[in-house]
Amino acid sequence: MSRTPLIAGNWKMNKNLKEVMSFIAGIDGKLPDPNRIEVAIAAPALYLIPLVQNRGTNPYKVSAENVYFENSGAFTGEISPAMLAAEGIDYSIIGHSERREYFHETDEEINKKAKALFAAGVTPILCCGETLETFEAGKTAEWVSGQIEAGLAGLTAEQVSNLVIAYEPIWAIGTGKTATPEIADKTCGVVRDTVRKLYGDETAEKVRIQYGGSVKPETIAELMAKPNIDGALVGGASLEPDSFLGLLNF
Ligand code: 13P
Repeated sequence: MSRTPLIAGNWKMNKNLKEVMSFIAGIDGKLPDPNRIEVAIAAPALYLIPLVQNRGTNPYKVSAENVYFENSGAFTGEISPAMLAAEGIDYSIIGHSERREYFHETDEEINKKAKALFAAGVTPILCCGETLETFEAGKTAEWVSGQIEAGLAGLTAEQVSNLVIAYEPIWAIGTGKTATPEIADKTCGVVRDTVRKLYGDETAEKVRIQYGGSVKPETIAELMAKPNIDGALVGGASLEPDSFLGLLNF
């Protein structure tokens, strides 16, 4: 079973429209063959349509950074799965640790978002990851498998086969402290085993699992060489075209 790696930039709350356009110009004609590596850009909601409309022939996918779980109605400030689908958005990150921490998102809400995205035809990138305290207490496996079980509750095997899961240890995000490839691979393996326990071998072999947390062009190759790591979710190093392209040419 070969899984196509997915390398996704997560711009978080950065850039203005002019900078988005200049980024697109900077990567024009330079992306890898999409059959070999899939590339996605997760951007603030304001820039999703410009990213789709100005893609030209560049084979990048576009991802939201968050979404609500209802499709329409009186939910001021929110964006729905149906809206993403209607504009040709491929993915949405859900359950990023920054959303869990600063916006108090729960596993239950994240699970509702996963279901709503699949129903609308948008693929979730479901994030999980532990704090430094949990890591140092040796409780990473227990914590991460709990987040995955809760996030996947009620999803079908077919949905989970198409899902992307990003393992991002909180202590490695924006800190310059990448998990060693061994630690990253081990926990991505825990994620895969959790999927195996819930859905069986076939689904576990299909689900793509990314690592995220201070991934840089210099460190990505050794992470990608690991058997359980199928890609990366990258913040800081995805913001400039040269660095982003460096990640893709690992
Ligand atoms: P950094 O690559 O900046 O550590 O961010 C990782 C991340 O949170 C991606 O979602």
